[in-house]
Amino acid sequence: MAIDLGEAAKDKGIKYFLISYTDLFGVQRAKLVPAQAINAMAKAGAGFAGFATWLDMSPANSDLFAVPDPESLIQLPWKPEVGWLAADLWMDGALVDQAPRTVLKRALARAADAGFEMKTGVECEYFLITADGQGVSDPADTAAKPCYDQQILMRRYDVITEICDCMLALGWKPYQNDHEDANGQFEMNWEYDNALVTADRHAFFKYMVKAIAEKHGLRATFMPKPFINLTGNGCHMHVSLWQGGRNVFEDEAGALGLSATGYQFIAGVMAEAQAMCALTNPAVNSYKRINAPVTLSGATWSPNTVTYTGNNRTHMIRIPESGRFEFRLADGAANPYLLPAAVLVAGLDGIANGKDPGPRLDINMYTEGHKVRGARKLPLNLLDALRTLEKSAVLKEGLGSAFLSSYLKLKHDDWNAYARHLTQWERETTLDC
Ligand code: ADP
Ligand code: MG
Ligand code: MG
Ligand code: MG
Ligand code: MG
Repeated sequence: MAIDLGEAAKDKGIKYFLISYTDLFGVQRAKLVPAQAINAMAKAGAGFAGFATWLDMSPANSDLFAVPDPESLIQLPWKPEVGWLAADLWMDGALVDQAPRTVLKRALARAADAGFEMKTGVECEYFLITADGQGVSDPADTAAKPCYDQQILMRRYDVITEICDCMLALGWKPYQNDHEDANGQFEMNWEYDNALVTADRHAFFKYMVKAIAEKHGLRATFMPKPFINLTGNGCHMHVSLWQGGRNVFEDEAGALGLSATGYQFIAGVMAEAQAMCALTNPAVNSYKRINAPVTLSGATWSPNTVTYTGNNRTHMIRIPESGRFEFRLADGAANPYLLPAAVLVAGLDGIANGKDPGPRLDINMYTEGHKVRGARKLPLNLLDALRTLEKSAVLKEGLGSAFLSSYLKLKHDDWNAYARHLTQWERETTLDC
């Protein structure tokens, strides 16, 4: 039985619903709808002018309708009179091809056709900064190695536990919170689930963290590299593939407990990694995190080449234990829906074509990487990444050509806007040429 949102509102004391969608740049757009109007709105969809958001639409287009998925309902634990709903986008009676949630659902349907369900867990690192966005909010958080620092963590107890209490109340099964490797940086982990469930939670998590930080007079940022000398915000994604309740990445007999299917999937992800970068590392700023020089803490914790390994955090793909791998490339700007969609279609292609990732590298990639012959470098900037994505037949086919052309168009515009800026560095290095 489908959930009746009007009834749910009465049962739960919800007064308003946020009908929310995530656009191509990861911005969350919403209408705040009073509970009395929700059933009519759930049927017809909430109306938007698509051009006003990042979806590659025209001002002349007819209305865009956001039809909420009742299964995605999240009652805001810090404001229980509001219910959040992830929506799918419709226009002229058809699903919008380039809508990120639809792109992911399409990829998941392809996986289902092959008998697979993908499960993911994400680690959404973020900084707590001052409300004006200028610096780390805790002036005493200055250590060179602040990771897991108990004292600094506990100075943010009120904010961190308010967020964690919300996740507990929502049944996400959070299990740990810590101070991360950069001054001002934190991470909170909750249990993995079906990739669409995790994607909706990922979108909601970003909203929740920002909202609760604001309540405390702070600001939260997921920006890939907000401070050039500090470790950036990663968004590692852990991946497993399931068939009839069984994790098909698990195989005791396989190297590191990973099955042949698991290695084929990894090979598929590696084959498309350079192209995928434009999706998993979508901001101009993303490229200041990957390929970065050593940070204050001594490591960037982000990859610069397409390699895989066992339980070793210096490579793009890490296999921490049997039955799953960790994809360490993506950053805090990654779209919660496009990230898993890209990984899934690349991985499925690896399986379909029996791809081989080659031998794993058990080296410190940061110090010994230069000795590895033939390891492919990740793109150095967004333009390189976009040009590589443009050439990927696998991602075009798997994510949809309409999606890809819209995405590339908007992102090229983004790059061009950046390129029009004159930077202080250019003046300093070129003024006296
Ligand atoms: P680390 O910091 O060691 O990379 P974390 O504990 O921060 O790892 O995050 C691990 C994530 O991986 C969590 O979301 C966890 O639920 C998820 N995870 C664990 N097992 C699997 C699995 N089989 N499939 C997908 N995700 C998994
Ligand atoms: Mg109006
Ligand atoms: Mg972690
Ligand atoms: Mg981390
Ligand atoms: Mg990790």
